[in-house]
Amino acid sequence: MATTTSTPFVQLPAGCPPVACVDIGGTKVAVNMADAQGVRGKVSEPTAKVGNNDALAQQIIRLIGESCALAGIAVADISAVGVATCGPFVINQGMVELAGPNICGGLAGKARGLPNDWTTALLEAPLKAVFPNVRVENDGVGALEAERRWGALQGQDNCAYVTWSTGIGMGLCVDGHILRGKNGNAGHAGHTFVSTNDDALCGCGLVGDVEGLVAGNAIPRRFGKDGFADAATLFIAARAGDAGAVAIVDGLCDVMGRTLFNMVATLDLQRISVGGSVFWHNRDYLLPKLQAYLQGKLPALTQGVEIVPAGLGEQVGDYAALALVVP
Ligand SMILES: [Zn+2]
Repeated sequence: MATTTSTPFVQLPAGCPPVACVDIGGTKVAVNMADAQGVRGKVSEPTAKVGNNDALAQQIIRLIGESCALAGIAVADISAVGVATCGPFVINQGMVELAGPNICGGLAGKARGLPNDWTTALLEAPLKAVFPNVRVENDGVGALEAERRWGALQGQDNCAYVTWSTGIGMGLCVDGHILRGKNGNAGHAGHTFVSTNDDALCGCGLVGDVEGLVAGNAIPRRFGKDGFADAATLFIAARAGDAGAVAIVDGLCDVMGRTLFNMVATLDLQRISVGGSVFWHNRDYLLPKLQAYLQGKLPALTQGVEIVPAGLGEQVGDYAALALVVP
């Protein structure tokens, strides 16, 4: 279905040639076109998970064509393709492939319930066979670049973007350099171990990592038995003063607050911007709790460090791919 995306925050430079913006999630893939006239031609489909392991890449190539048709842009005029995607990545002959637990059924085996036996999904190589200029980054990196360009991290050289959503993702910037690492997976701190809880199984297979404990998809798994079938139910109860819900949310903040502190202590950050649906819908309630984990603790590291809501709000993800390719 075609929709026109408004661009309240984002002005592209005059004369900016058309770029294609691709967002890949475990559930859906979305493609937009952008040029000096704006962002438009949005098409979206469930993420391809059947067939050969180039099915996702072929889906993206087809969706770019459909998005171009909607936007009135010739495919041949596309100057760059930005891809912001869930990870993690593996590199095969210099090209990014996805090894995402929600896409590749060969990682966890049949019990995971995915309709394929892929160990990776091809991505960069098939796209580069069609488009000369492709940039693939983790969606946390794309969101970080969007926040640095248009949002709450403008002018910040030592900063991070953190999404607290269905999963936990991050993008990291130190000394003005975006951190990538050997396979482009820097920022996967959602999969750092923080607990021996045996009820905290993450989709990645680890037990007791940050995402397994506090992500939106962990809440029904961990607290469904307490009557909280999803994040919304839990936070409505906590905000109404339900003692059990308040204690659970305080426990979630204990993990997330310490994670943010650890990021500051490890990377000497100045500002962290936080987005994602779990945080965003409860930011007035959660922000002071998270900030408290920095206040007064090891002042040489935390003095003046800010935790702020994402400047692009709920639209951070919409601009992640665009931020990767705008000149
Ligand atoms: Zn994990």
